[in-house]
Amino acid sequence: MTVLLDERVPRTLDRLVQQLQDDAFRGARVEAWLFEGATRRRAAEQQLAAVGVRARLRSAYKPLVHFFLEDVDVADLRRATIRYPVCEAADRKRFRIESYPLAALLVGAETQFLPGSPALSYHVDLEYQDRHTAAHEVAAPNRIREDPLGRHTLSPSGWLKVAGSRGGLRDVDQPLETEFEAIFRKIVGAVHAHPWGAAEPYFEQLVVRADIPAAEWRLPYAEECLSTGEALHEDVYFSLLEALKHHAGRPADDRTARPGQIVPDIRYTGGEPRVRVAVESFDTAEPSQPAAPLDEAVGPLSLGQVYEELSALGGRPFSAISRQGRAAAGIYRAGARPAIVVTAGQHANETSGVVGALRAARRLAATPDAHFAVIPVENPDGYALHRRLCMTHPRYMHHAARYTAFGDDLQSRSTEPWHEKGARVEGQRLGGAALHINLHGYPSHEWTRPLTGYLPHGFDSWTIPMGFFLIVRHHRAWADRAADLVARVTERLACIPELVAFNRAQLASYRAHTGELPVPIYHDVPCRVSEDDRSPTPLVLVTEFPDETAYGDLFVLAHTAQMQTVLAAEEIHASHGA
Ligand SMILES: [Zn+2]
Repeated sequence: MTVLLDERVPRTLDRLVQQLQDDAFRGARVEAWLFEGATRRRAAEQQLAAVGVRARLRSAYKPLVHFFLEDVDVADLRRATIRYPVCEAADRKRFRIESYPLAALLVGAETQFLPGSPALSYHVDLEYQDRHTAAHEVAAPNRIREDPLGRHTLSPSGWLKVAGSRGGLRDVDQPLETEFEAIFRKIVGAVHAHPWGAAEPYFEQLVVRADIPAAEWRLPYAEECLSTGEALHEDVYFSLLEALKHHAGRPADDRTARPGQIVPDIRYTGGEPRVRVAVESFDTAEPSQPAAPLDEAVGPLSLGQVYEELSALGGRPFSAISRQGRAAAGIYRAGARPAIVVTAGQHANETSGVVGALRAARRLAATPDAHFAVIPVENPDGYALHRRLCMTHPRYMHHAARYTAFGDDLQSRSTEPWHEKGARVEGQRLGGAALHINLHGYPSHEWTRPLTGYLPHGFDSWTIPMGFFLIVRHHRAWADRAADLVARVTERLACIPELVAFNRAQLASYRAHTGELPVPIYHDVPCRVSEDDRSPTPLVLVTEFPDETAYGDLFVLAHTAQMQTVLAAEEIHASHGA
């Protein structure tokens, strides 16, 4: 084991409270923005009031949403007009997206977002049922940070304002580096500075443990939760992946880099924050988990159950072995109908496709002449990591489990040795399928990177959920069949009323915060169709259900939509003939 960093980091809130109790601050008005939960901020305000300091401690993360949660009585609100900052250093829609999901939270009120000035504050006009009005300026403290790749990003920042002290202090209005920001800076700095050498992979796993103050607020809308811990997990994972790609001389959006497995381990502490970064051997432990009835599964299956369900299907088994020695397992059944290949779990934190693939395969196995190969978990190492990470945080999206234990996206592998991708190659070879149905998911709630520009770099269009979504890629000669597939699959999906209602609600809140969706919508399902001759199969249908962190009824809806897509596509493909 090599320890790159192991430090305690003072908690900013504690330091601030201690500092402000000095006589010099008596009578002062203090405003500070911190990455702390509301309960702790209110308690600190009271502690300061007792010594004559008027302090208002605000959230540096999503300050506008916190303003509405903490400062506005929304019960009698009739209309909210929000002018959001538009400045050169950030995407035009950045601050409108950061105010998500306000449009859905302000039930019964009309919410309007308008582009405002470059100043980093929201101007909020409120009108109540009794026609009285109120206007507020809500600061959004941000500063430009340079990341190890040399990119400059405008990112949320701690801030301190002090005015009117009777102790003769000068007024203060400046950034305040919080423990949340310091921990991130230290992690990225330590990994950037380490001599990794030239040969990938650099490690088995790089474990990043951060103990931070808890700041979680579950919102009364869909799966939304304001969580600085989850946001830190995401930013640490992607920033380190980018830093290690940079080290290898690869572009930031490259998916073939193989640094090893990066594992952020975020914990909440009431005490002193701490950060530790270490290179370790693989942890291949798998938590035990009871089996669930497949059709009614309310959460991800265990890997053991996946293997059992698969072998119960019959057919000819095949598999390929991952870096950690797990099987990417599939079965193949020959039949007279045109062949299809069904895969899921390429990105292993997208778990509804796994259930959907198995449910569809059960039905296909009982269909005379159906001809198919199915691989329900293509990335078993990522899947095992996801099961492990969910033991601590079941409602984090855990993109650290997205790629393989090498750190790459298995789909991007274009040469042997294939490792786990060998299962897909074999599944495609066995039946010579012309249609590949590739089941995916994406976050069911907002995905942010608050320390590197807020919007997730390279994934900006997936920040806010937009319902169950289809992507079709086809070879040039297959354009007509692709168009027919989209029209008829979505027609079938429209027979699931819960799916239609779900998609309409998600698309409405998506539009409120980002404007029109830039893809056509068929039967309430957005579909992106494009010509692409690179795939070995001439027709590829990718599903995208916002399933990351979905449980219960939503998870059942997710795998039902995945299953119905496979069954509809198989039938339509069969109707096209060989
Ligand atoms: Zn995916």
